Amino acid sequence: MAEQPGTLLYYLKRSTEFLEKKEIPNPRVDAEWILSDLLNLPRIKLYSQFEMPLSQKEIDLYRERIVERSKRKPVAYITGKKGFHQFEYLVSEDVLIPRPETEELVDFLFKQKETLRTEFPDGFQIWDLCSGSGCIGLSLSQLLEPKAVVLSDISEEAIQQSKANAEKYQLTGIQFYVSNLDESLPNHLRFDIIVSNPPYIPDSEKKDIMPDVLDYEPHLALFVSDIIEFHRALFLSAKQRLKPGGWFLMETHPNYIHELESLAISLGFVSERRILDSSNKERFLFLKTEAKIGS
Ligand code: GLN
Repeated sequence: MAEQPGTLLYYLKRSTEFLEKKEIPNPRVDAEWILSDLLNLPRIKLYSQFEMPLSQKEIDLYRERIVERSKRKPVAYITGKKGFHQFEYLVSEDVLIPRPETEELVDFLFKQKETLRTEFPDGFQIWDLCSGSGCIGLSLSQLLEPKAVVLSDISEEAIQQSKANAEKYQLTGIQFYVSNLDESLPNHLRFDIIVSNPPYIPDSEKKDIMPDVLDYEPHLALFVSDIIEFHRALFLSAKQRLKPGGWFLMETHPNYIHELESLAISLGFVSERRILDSSNKERFLFLKTEAKIGS
């Protein structure tokens, strides 16, 4: 039976067809996400509401948002939010949309909770370096009960966005700094754990990046002109700020991870190991600083 004109299912199908014609990769799923956000209904609930008529206002707004998606604007920027681990963060075009790989990085640390308790019996302080939306640091602050969490990013707008996310979860006591690496952090700050998902795509790979990313996400958060020189500065900042026996976990480019690991070792880090992501790519580097003799 054909769906009744004017119903939820009717608009869902028309929107899906439209996105399909525009060669959007997952047209039905995207059309559902956008509608579920607009109607403030969990996506799965749409299925029990197929016969519901949409109001003129809903139809107009839905059309507008579907047109945005047809121009490749990512769904997360249309809805203004993105699920991440067990949370959901607010995102604007000033910050990178949190990625599933980054969830894996957070989850890796979450699973180390007991080890962290043994290794840092007096508690630990975390620095999320290049924090963007704040997804890493704010999630860890909720999952690991750290003593303190510092977020820093070179972008003032990104820091504003991460503050909004901290407010959303009523997280008090987080410190925020607009800073190029550790340059604007107070001198005395030292950390037990540093986590980072810095920009790691060389400019030369821009041509291979899909338009959804290239035309909408902040290039500052994605690309670097010289991946080695950028990471030299990043490692030096991290090394300077990490206490003896501290952990440094970083997401990175699988094609450069060996070179970056060697660089980190040459700068005085100990490499604990490289960690695979769920597509079996070496995506994360787990570094430590040597513990103090006698401890
Ligand atoms: N830490 C943020 C994230 O993982 C931002 C990363 C970035 O801006 N490179 O999404």
